[in-house]
Amino acid sequence: MMNTQGKAIGMYIHIPFCQRKCHYCDFPSYAGMENYWEAYTEAVVKELTLKAEDFSQATIKTLFIGGGTPSLLPYRLIERILETVHSKYRVIPHGEATIEANPGTLTPDKLKTYRKLGLNRISLGLQAAQEDLLKKLGRIHSYEDFLHAVDLAHQNGFQNINADLIFGIPGQSLEDWRMTLERVTALDLTHLSCYSLKIEEDTLFGDLKNQGRLEEVEEELDREMYHMAIDYLAERGFAQYELSNFAKPHYSCQHNINYWECGEYMGIGAGAHSFARNRRFANTPDVAAYIGGIKTGEPLLSEDITLDMEDRISERMILGLRMNRGVDLEVLSLELNVDLEMKYAEKIEKLLAWKLVEHCGTVLKLTKRGMDLANSVFIEFID
Ligand code: SF4
Repeated sequence: MMNTQGKAIGMYIHIPFCQRKCHYCDFPSYAGMENYWEAYTEAVVKELTLKAEDFSQATIKTLFIGGGTPSLLPYRLIERILETVHSKYRVIPHGEATIEANPGTLTPDKLKTYRKLGLNRISLGLQAAQEDLLKKLGRIHSYEDFLHAVDLAHQNGFQNINADLIFGIPGQSLEDWRMTLERVTALDLTHLSCYSLKIEEDTLFGDLKNQGRLEEVEEELDREMYHMAIDYLAERGFAQYELSNFAKPHYSCQHNINYWECGEYMGIGAGAHSFARNRRFANTPDVAAYIGGIKTGEPLLSEDITLDMEDRISERMILGLRMNRGVDLEVLSLELNVDLEMKYAEKIEKLLAWKLVEHCGTVLKLTKRGMDLANSVFIEFID
């Protein structure tokens, strides 16, 4: 049994269904599995019930229903899941509670139900504001659909709205990216996530790349787009607080901050990851295998690692450096009972000389250059 006595934790619930698979996506999400929706919902309800005792002393401080496309499901299924959460767990009243949605899948009834169930943040997958780029990415929606979704969300009481954006899309110009930023910042949004497109194996883009048929954006342009986002969004009141995340004051995503601070969280559903008592584990991403495993009373795991002290230090450094506020080495040293300045003295000196990190008192953070080359910094903290 897992001991989470009195802890405030995050809860993530994964809905792995999409209308169509986007051309760049390697997340555990599947199209054409409508016949699994009901059974999957029941499996999620059962997993929530099975784990409730282990987490009976924990308080859920943030809730995140992600995917996939959770908004694709009929609202009564989301209702069934959230009613189980509220009846079996202690959820902090008015804590951040997010649902991911794709434009084109929201209706007033769905949004009303989400609000009624305590969801107070909506995260919309837009990616780009140009129809040709949306088509290229294999998205199911138009920019108009996005505008309509934002309107509907506002009309139904959602004030905290995020849009996910992608830059570095093949064929995307700097002007396209500027226009996307201009359009989304003209709306009443509270949060923006801006990701550089990564071409992953086992995606349509990955196949095209292997065949030499994908014109990738040059690294230089990709970085120019990133810098543009940081500067442009800052001018419009969205402060960068993590490598890819920007928020209006008081609207940074608490659920994700808990990940970057290595706080504990439970993951429910196929492919969902959990972290508790220094143990990281993940359910199988295979929907049928997940449902089968839950039926036997024991979720099938695809990963199960217990972190030793070195792993924990490494994770705290790497995840902490992702955030603009950086890592307070003095505070973390006390917490982990290890002198981090001493442990990493040589590495920090080297990173300082390369101008990839900077010291602000006892805090170590990435410089602008360090943000561009974040992976080269992170690698220094892996033993
Ligand atoms: S909507 Fe999101 S999760 Fe679904 S296929 Fe597209 S990128 Fe992947």
